[in-house]
Amino acid sequence: MVKRQGVPFVLCAPSGAGKSTLAKKLCAEFDLAFSVSCTTRAPRQGEIDGVHYCFVTKEDFEEKIRNNEFAEWAVVHGNYYGTPLKPVLEKLEQGKDMLFDIDIQGAAQLSLSLPRARFVFVFPPSLTVLRERLEKRGTDSAETIERRMKNAQGEIEGSHWFEAWIVNDDLDTAYDELRAFYLSCTLNPKLFPQLLKSVLEK
Ligand code: 5GP
Repeated sequence: MVKRQGVPFVLCAPSGAGKSTLAKKLCAEFDLAFSVSCTTRAPRQGEIDGVHYCFVTKEDFEEKIRNNEFAEWAVVHGNYYGTPLKPVLEKLEQGKDMLFDIDIQGAAQLSLSLPRARFVFVFPPSLTVLRERLEKRGTDSAETIERRMKNAQGEIEGSHWFEAWIVNDDLDTAYDELRAFYLSCTLNPKLFPQLLKSVLEK
């Protein structure tokens, strides 16, 4: 029986580009596990510990860094965020594809810690539209929005090495492009290390 390894599928975008909506749609359509990150930021309304994030203290997070528990970690908008390595390796080994909603610094680290990872960057149609979306969302203070806008510019400038770029102007079109890229990634021959051998043996 040929066993396929899971695809680490990384979705990056500035806050407000619509990344979470796209991620949810992809997880709803396909059998993808969402990688639950650890963070030191406070939970937003409706966020559940262990589902959206594992909310930890700064001390706990720094302890996990010292114990090499993260596949990647970064300071984003003034808080720590990191991907716990062990559950990710276990799920990939079981053949489960995994979705990572992480920032661009973390994505660069994952390209080293998970060499089979695939990378998509989602753009907002413009920085003006991005600001409007963040303001309409109503979850962040004016100061936070300014910080997110500044980071957005840096992230867009640093996205040149990603494998796929998707402009989220129209959600349905952006989703069609995302699912097309995801499907192409699941056919990567490197995911089937024993396939050739087992086919030749038959
Ligand atoms: P938010 O606080 O809005 O949920 O996320 C802020 C940013 O942190 C987003 O760009 C999100 O993708 C990123 N992020 C979430 N989890 C992780 C993680 O584990 N590692 C890194 N590097 N970034 C993360």
